Formats: sequence, structure tokens, C-alpha cells
Amino acid sequence: MTSDYTQLLNNLETLKLIEIKNRIDEITGLVSSNNISFTEGLLKLTNMEIDHRKESIVRSMVKVGAFPFIKEVKDFDFDFQPSINKQEILELENLGFIDRAENIVFLGPSGVGKTHLATAIGIAAAKRRNITYFIKCQDLITQLKKAKAENRLEDRIKHFNKYRLLILDELGYLPIDKEDSKLLFQLIDKRYEKKSVIITTNINFGEWDEVFGDPVIANAILDRILHHAKVISINGKSYRLKDHINKENKNNE
Ligand code: ADP
Ligand code: MG
Repeated sequence: MTSDYTQLLNNLETLKLIEIKNRIDEITGLVSSNNISFTEGLLKLTNMEIDHRKESIVRSMVKVGAFPFIKEVKDFDFDFQPSINKQEILELENLGFIDRAENIVFLGPSGVGKTHLATAIGIAAAKRRNITYFIKCQDLITQLKKAKAENRLEDRIKHFNKYRLLILDELGYLPIDKEDSKLLFQLIDKRYEKKSVIITTNINFGEWDEVFGDPVIANAILDRILHHAKVISINGKSYRLKDHINKENKNNE
């Protein structure tokens, strides 16, 4: 015959109370040694289950985000990049911009931390259950192009529009021809004043004409992005180069 204990474990499994199942021995131990009451024990177990579920939602939201790495604002060395106002970044991490459907543009040369900060804010958003997605601009365009060729552009734009926060990384690293610019415009226009976008780019706004195949579309995109946007201009040294230089110094020692 199955023992009460085994039946209890089976019941917890059936009810999907996995964390309670994992921690039951620990808490029954405390109850039987009279350290805590039965009610206190149950309270502890149910709190553990609730915390465990919250953590697993956070984990899955971050996974959905498809971030290139897991780096947060706390991992950013602001001393290394004095052109960045730390307070401003901490304010962005509070996510008010998402409620106001505002955008963020990180502008600056390679290696200064644009992708790091965009990712960090994206992770903060995902952790607070804002559905977020990170994608390189070029990959987004490839997907939209493919969808158009397959007559399902509208669906694809709808798909990218479902994210509360969309991060477009590396805009302008590669030139975008007129047809592709139009595709990007459609998505930006759909989200305009409704949902936030974070963009990282190395291209000054004055030079967007040259990146996009068409100056009119370039302007239309820029207009919608910048109308309600916080622009974080970073002009400093590359962090990647810093590691490189350190390594070389070590090798020379
Ligand atoms: P960018 O997108 O501007 O080219 P990244 O954000 O990809 O640069 O940064 C390059 C690498 O250096 C990443 O691994 C990033 O985490 C790291 N990094 C950049 N700036 C900093 C910083 N100030 N503090 C800590 N790590 C940094
Ligand atoms: Mg980058």
C-alpha cells in the first residue's frame, strides 16, 4: 500500500505544486520539531510556491526577449563612460517611457555600450512583464522582406507590433535600400505613439538620408522615432578595445 507520504507527493505533483513538493520535507521537519505551527508551515510552503512561480514567469519573459546576452544596468561601469548620465539611465530603467510609448535612441560609435544598455533596459522591462523582443535591424528587415515575398507582410508587422517594447539593434550599420526602408517605415509607423522602440545606431541623424535609399522615407522614419524620444549620445572609448589593450599590456609584461 502506498504510504500517506507518497500519496501526498503524488497529490502535490497532480496539483502542479512543484515547489511545495520540493520543500515539504524541510517544512514538515520544522513543524514536527515544534519550531513553527502547522499554519506557519503551510504559509511558508505556499509563499515558496508563489515565489517560485513568479521567478519562472520572469525567466520565461527574459527568454522570449531573445537578448544577445544577459547584462543589466548594474553590470555597466559608468565610470568608464563618463559621457553617459547614470541618473538618466536609472530613470529609463524605471520604465516610465514604456507607459508613455516613448522611444530611446542610443547613438554612438562601436563598443561604447549601446547594445549593453538597450539590453539592460529590455531585461528590466521583461522582468516587469512587459513583453519585449530584441532583434538586429538587418534581421528584422530580412524577415519583413521574406514575409512580403510570401504575401504575409501584414501578419508579420502585426507580430512585431505585439511586443510592448521592441529593440532594434545596429540600425545603419548596413545600407537599407528604398524597398526595405518602406518595410521598416511600416512597422515604425504602426508602433508610433502606441508602443516603445529602442534603437541603437552609429549614424548621426543628419546622415540617415545616406543610409536609407530614399531621403523622404528616411525623414518619415526619423520623424516618428524622434517625436517622443530620449536620445542618449555616447561619445567615448570602446569597452571592447579596453579589454584588448589590457590583454596586450599583460602579454607585454
Ligand atoms: P556597442 O553596442 O556600443 O557596440 P556593446 O554594448 O556591445 O557596444 O559593448 C561591447 C561589450 O563591452 C559588451 O560585452 C558590453 O557588455 C561591454 N561594455 C561596454 N561598455 C561597458 C561598460 N561601460 N561597462 C561594462 N561593460 C561594458
Ligand atoms: Mg552593439
